[in-house]
Amino acid sequence: PKCNRQDVPHSIISLLDGFKASKTLFTASKLKVFDVLSSSKSLTLEEVAGQISASVLGTERLLEAAVSLGLLESVKQQNTSVYRNTEQANRFLVSDSPESLHGYILHCNDMVWPLFSHLENAVREGTSQHERAFGKKSEDVFQDAYYSKDEVKIRFMNAMHSIARVTGKDVATAFDLSSYKTACDIGGCTGAMAYEFTKANPGLSVIVFDLPQVIEMRRHFQSKENDDRVSFVAGDFFKDDLPKADLYILARILHDWSDEKLHVLLGKLSKMCTPGCGLLVSEIFLDEERKRPSRALLQALSMTEGKQRSTSEYSDLLEKYGFVPKHIRHTDNLLDAMLFVKDPTDKRTL
Ligand code: SAM
Repeated sequence: PKCNRQDVPHSIISLLDGFKASKTLFTASKLKVFDVLSSSKSLTLEEVAGQISASVLGTERLLEAAVSLGLLESVKQQNTSVYRNTEQANRFLVSDSPESLHGYILHCNDMVWPLFSHLENAVREGTSQHERAFGKKSEDVFQDAYYSKDEVKIRFMNAMHSIARVTGKDVATAFDLSSYKTACDIGGCTGAMAYEFTKANPGLSVIVFDLPQVIEMRRHFQSKENDDRVSFVAGDFFKDDLPKADLYILARILHDWSDEKLHVLLGKLSKMCTPGCGLLVSEIFLDEERKRPSRALLQALSMTEGKQRSTSEYSDLLEKYGFVPKHIRHTDNLLDAMLFVKDPTDKRTL
């Protein structure tokens, strides 16, 4: 009898193995396998093992697994196999390539993986497992967790930088922003997104506003960028005044906080913005039934005090502060974007 392929639970089996595949990518990145194979270099197993200072047996298993996942290629040359990066690995996994995801991958390995190993507790308790995973309580994930040690801070900033480099252009070109002259990127981190905005909009200058601990590190990330239309201001968006601008950018900010916590920031923005001012929100947007994309829903399991929202949830939230949704853009990249405009008829005083 013909075997019924539907009897095989392929999707469940690939979920079962998903964590092994993630950890293969993380480990190959951390051990710099993609770096030693960069610039189309082909190396034998022994050469790779030597360069990453690892055992030949362990390296062989890692390389073979990486080939099976499409991260590397192996080719027979005479009697030996040599390994090389796939095109994608050269573009996105080599640590110093312009679109490298290396920083984000290390953050996933060193920060997100330990948190997710406590998912059972996270679900039972409905709280972040930072204390269990890292032995330290964190009230504010940025101030207490990411920025308490320089090494962790740089790793987190590298992670944000790498995603912003990959998605920034699509976010910056999502809408016609030619009517705006000054923008403020709230929580703009390394400035990677800001540089994409000035590149895409010749008439725009952008102020990057972020915590002092972040702003003080900006030179670490801007060695190649040289654009005097990008400037940096240090401050706390819950406590300090925000720079004046006619377009505010909130990229990956709103999902980190509850509606209650955002009241302070959004109230400030509402006061600062005159009618016609723009507010550009860039996030992963959930569909209205909160079923997809699973990337957003999986991220929510880290149990920060924030939440993932759909476009209508973002609209409802921002309409309370006088911002009207104008355009939505699904970019097919890692982040989508929505442009709001301060309602000219809004007379509220918050
Ligand atoms: N907007 C950047 C992007 O999309 O690449 C970074 C997003 S990251 C998830 C959140 C940013 O908000 C970090 O750079 C963090 O330092 C900043 N941030 C968090 N709390 C802040 C506060 N109270 N005041 C100012 N910036 C803050």
